[in-house]
Amino acid sequence: MFKTIDDLIADRHGVAGKPVLVREDLNVPMHEGRVSDDTRLRAAMPTLAELADHGAKVLVLAHFGRPKGKVDPEFTLRPIAEALGEVMGRHVGFLASPDRHAIDVLEPGSITVLENSRFYPGEEKNDPVLARQMASLGDFYVNDAFSAAHRAHVTTEGLAHLLPAFAGRAMEAELKALEAALGKPEHPVAAVVGGAKVSTKLDVLTHLVGKVDHLIIGGGMANTFLAARGVDVGKSLCEHDLADTANAILEAADKANCTVHLPYDVVVAKEFGANVPCHTANVHEVAADEMILDVGASAVEALSDVLKTCRTLVWNGPLGAFEYPPFDTATVALARTAAALTREGTLVSVAGGGDTVAALNHAGVADDFSFVSTAGGAFLEWMEGKVLPGVKALEG
Ligand code: ADP
Ligand code: MG
Repeated sequence: MFKTIDDLIADRHGVAGKPVLVREDLNVPMHEGRVSDDTRLRAAMPTLAELADHGAKVLVLAHFGRPKGKVDPEFTLRPIAEALGEVMGRHVGFLASPDRHAIDVLEPGSITVLENSRFYPGEEKNDPVLARQMASLGDFYVNDAFSAAHRAHVTTEGLAHLLPAFAGRAMEAELKALEAALGKPEHPVAAVVGGAKVSTKLDVLTHLVGKVDHLIIGGGMANTFLAARGVDVGKSLCEHDLADTANAILEAADKANCTVHLPYDVVVAKEFGANVPCHTANVHEVAADEMILDVGASAVEALSDVLKTCRTLVWNGPLGAFEYPPFDTATVALARTAAALTREGTLVSVAGGGDTVAALNHAGVADDFSFVSTAGGAFLEWMEGKVLPGVKALEG
């Protein structure tokens, strides 16, 4: 278990007037010098506001881009600190080269962003000397950046060993959602794994087989499984060299009592693109010059019925080439079923992955899922069953 902001605020010495180092994810997309998507800034708000409202001197640690251990004005956090202030509707300061003196004179209740942690060569090496220097700036450490927790850097891991460490509100919400989805989930559990290639998600598939009751495989990777079972998938995206691996996963699933669902009808086309001519076919009827671009309507209906029997769903990867309509149909339909079951209260639904989040937004259901993770790499490593160093350090 990990401590949260509740424990920090309940600390008998309190946080009023104390400097608190808070790791956030401020690695936002920028366009022409302006923040083009402020999702991450809004995610950072609750923790920063709560600590400031309790009188802490909030010192925000974050990285931006890949400056590779050198001071590089292109990657300064200064404009992002300003954008954070706008989003929060309160003053957010900025310190380019923080030292204890500069921090002593800060007002209690203030929020100050410290310059890009990756300007220090020791950050990504988890250098103990840098860790001690940074730790000397604060009395407490809060990690609120789940998305960076798969990296053992000074600001994501090292500091947790040197200062009393706590999970921020966003980190807490993410860890609780992930625990409910795969840690100690209510069974039956279904996992949807889709996307382009088996090779990028081998560890995910292998881990899930031992964890879930239903493994629903869609997207391009379903073709690799179908081909491994002897189905001719025409010119579909398919990793023929992974046939043995796919069969081994199917066997492991069988042993673990995990039912694997592969599509039995599919939507095929001769070319890749939006609104190209296409039709639905049985998987055994795919022509040599056709490719599978989506799961068929009958299979989706059967998958919806599977979800209706489940209590928990974890989803990574779209079922089809959802960027090109109508190959978004299966993903949208199954996402809407999951959303409806979640609204009705019978299903806990957790989803993550860059394209998955985009697909759920496209289906208009992201808000209806129990939790949607925007953490990318960290989310996938968690799906692989890996222990994330940033999370482990909070627990240890
Ligand atoms: P995520 O980012 O959510 O982890 P992935 O990156 O693994 O998801 O997969 C998303 C990509 O998979 C999309 O670009 C989508 O077009 C592609 N894809 C899904 N189904 C197919 C298919 N049948 N053939 C080719 N590409 C597919
Ligand atoms: Mg992707």
